Amino acid sequence: MAMSMPKILSCSVQECAYNNNNQCHTLAITVGSGHPSCDTFFKAQTKGGSEDMIGGVGACREQDCRFNKALECSAQGISVAPHSGHGDCRTFKAL
Ligand code: SF4
Ligand code: SF4
Repeated sequence: MAMSMPKILSCSVQECAYNNNNQCHTLAITVGSGHPSCDTFFKAQTKGGSEDMIGGVGACREQDCRFNKALECSAQGISVAPHSGHGDCRTFKAL
């Protein structure tokens, strides 16, 4: 069965360059370097990404999450929220 890319339903990391109005505006993020962090988080003076695009989860390395299937996210969608200076996937569920 073909997988579709899970959307980022909301992200409250407003200081991220890709965030506008609690939505992520890059094409796809990567999650999971060591814990369920958004590894695409980027702090910059200017905003980036594209306003008409809502981001998805391109890849996830968080193998301790029950939604992780073959290093991809199989959730319907995820939400991201601040965690010690960056963003974490809050849809993470331990195995
Ligand atoms: S922290 Fe991650 S999910 Fe949130 S806006 Fe930035 S790149 Fe997107
Ligand atoms: S829900 Fe799980 S598999 Fe999906 S991005 Fe979050 S941590 Fe990764």
